[in-house]
Amino acid sequence: MSVGGLPKIHADDRAARQILLNLLSNAIKFTSAGGEVKVGACLDSQGGAEITIADNDVGIAKEDMEMILLPFSQVDSTNFSTEGGTGLGLSIVNSLVELQGGELKIDSKLGEGTCVTVRFPKSSILRDQRSHG
Ligand code: ADP
Repeated sequence: MSVGGLPKIHADDRAARQILLNLLSNAIKFTSAGGEVKVGACLDSQGGAEITIADNDVGIAKEDMEMILLPFSQVDSTNFSTEGGTGLGLSIVNSLVELQGGELKIDSKLGEGTCVTVRFPKSSILRDQRSHG
């Protein structure tokens, strides 16, 4: 997998795609019209790579943060519709990130938004191959 201007990452293509798809669909699903979803990628201070997916709307209550990683768990912090979801998305993301040797971090504030960071370790970076597009 590669992102423009950054080195390539050694990761399972299907897993990486599924991780991004699940996180993007959550960010879009839990953001009302007029809200913003931002995607970013950078190298972190320890030489690993970080991909962030952030939205600025519904957010998750502090007391629900642990539960959302469990399979089939959906929280109803703001009565925002969870229709169409299965409660499996984040638990799948968490497992796939761990299988890639990475880490998942979720920062969220109820009513303000959510920022999910997927961190790939330094060992997953292919140093000599830069993406050109
Ligand atoms: P699903 O999206 O199918 O409901 P997930 O496992 O992906 O299941 O997410 C679990 C729960 O975590 C969601 O039902 C929702 O309550 C909360 N959640 C996940 N992502 C976000 C987000 N970006 N903003 C607000 N809540 C979220």
